[in-house]
Amino acid sequence: MIELIGVSKVYRTSHGDVRALDEVTLSIQEGEFVALKGHSGSGKSTLLALLGGLAVPNTGSISVAGRDVGKLSSSERARFREENVGFVFQMFHLLPYLSVLDNVLVAAPAASRSTSRDYAKQLLSGFGMDERITHRPSQLSAGERQRVAMARALLNRPKLLLADEPTGNLDEKNAEALLDFLGGFHREGGTIVLATHDDRAAERADRIIELASGKVTSPVAAA
Ligand code: ADP
Ligand code: MG
Repeated sequence: MIELIGVSKVYRTSHGDVRALDEVTLSIQEGEFVALKGHSGSGKSTLLALLGGLAVPNTGSISVAGRDVGKLSSSERARFREENVGFVFQMFHLLPYLSVLDNVLVAAPAASRSTSRDYAKQLLSGFGMDERITHRPSQLSAGERQRVAMARALLNRPKLLLADEPTGNLDEKNAEALLDFLGGFHREGGTIVLATHDDRAAERADRIIELASGKVTSPVAAA
């Protein structure tokens, strides 16, 4: 499903270059649930951005779902994301002026908006958010906001879910609920890469990949 060979990512800043990922080689099988662990600044978010086609590497190759992601144009990457990837973030990234339902529909391809609308409602209902679809994010608890973000991530039926510290702003109960949702996606055959500091979150994964200063410090092949 995912194959990285010698991937490096360098950010050029006014203070010099930052090597966020340094010659990373790893593979992740279809249907695997992998936790990405490492201190702040170790390169977790950068790795997720590359896997999801939000950024391109400086060197190395990244294949995801049969596509050579680093070689795609930016419009091809947008298409790749729409067809393959769902994202969930620590800060939820909901649009404050849109309703819950419209926040989920932000991910919908223009051509299939009406079928997407039905599926968005179904997903929100599955997350216990029936009564909330006309509300604004500011009217929701953190746990509810993250469920809206999950519904948005799942709208296009992605094969790959990328989650960047998704429990970081949740209390214990909501964190458990979110991890249960991830577990459900995994049981249905979905592939998950979860960046997390949280040991309890990492325990849900099939395998832990550790990053330190942009390098993988744990075994790289699937068991
Ligand atoms: P993590 O998610 O593990 O905290 P990141 O991938 O966010 O790590 O960051 C890895 C390194 O790259 C850090 O040193 C960080 O400061 C740097 N970095 C991340 N994004 C940028 C950016 N857009 N510009 C410059 N440096 C960045
Ligand atoms: Mg991060």
